[in-house]
Amino acid sequence: MEDLDPPRESTEAANQILQALECLNLNWDGEVLYQSRRHKAYHDALAQLQRQDLVFPCICSRQDLRACSGIYPGTCSLRDIKGSDLEPGNYALRCKVSNSIMFFDDLLQGKQSQNLEAEIGDFIIKRKDGLYSYQLAVVVDDTFQEITHIVRGIDLIGSSHRQIYLQKLLDYPQPVYSHIPVITNSLGQKLSKQHHATALNLNKPSLTLYQALLYLQQRPPAELQDGKPSEILLWAIENWKIKKLKNLQQLDEGLLN
Ligand SMILES: [Zn+2]
Repeated sequence: MEDLDPPRESTEAANQILQALECLNLNWDGEVLYQSRRHKAYHDALAQLQRQDLVFPCICSRQDLRACSGIYPGTCSLRDIKGSDLEPGNYALRCKVSNSIMFFDDLLQGKQSQNLEAEIGDFIIKRKDGLYSYQLAVVVDDTFQEITHIVRGIDLIGSSHRQIYLQKLLDYPQPVYSHIPVITNSLGQKLSKQHHATALNLNKPSLTLYQALLYLQQRPPAELQDGKPSEILLWAIENWKIKKLKNLQQLDEGLLN
């Protein structure tokens, strides 16, 4: 449960997600892991990076950074200060990146490459307000839960190189990545709470699952609509063809209307 920022993400929202998954018969192994209860693990990973001299404090203001179009310029005056020399204060922590091209092979999107220094820059792993970054947290959690395959929306593909970089630095195994298209509205925005998309219809879980399969280009037989969620999922597991999603960047919400 990605609740790194608990004041913003209520317990109620987390419970609603779990209820929706249960309703759709999408069950999980073991106990739900909450990022809000994992600070010790993130702290330990951060310390491991600090021991390798890969972390520095950044006091740059938002205004300082606005001039560099989102790419951290690497000019921070504190970049070469050792962690131990620091006064405790109000700063973010960044992870140093190197000027080399990284590669990974996405199961669906093919070969991906990125030069972290040129395209991202030293990136934040702990925010000024004390919260750990998404990048660090998911890498630590994926290893802890022994995740072997990461299947997620293509909107997150840009994070993958930073996460693989952290896995290398922390000596974690690298999972297989597969980035699938997301459903978008007429403005090209991902359907999400942030863009006020309608919630899933949980009164008709079978229809919801059936439509999801249609969106995912899996061509379920029409009679499957009347099946139980467990039957629809069984069909999906047996007939799943990920290659049908190849080269699709996004799925238009209007396709089914
Ligand atoms: Zn800085």
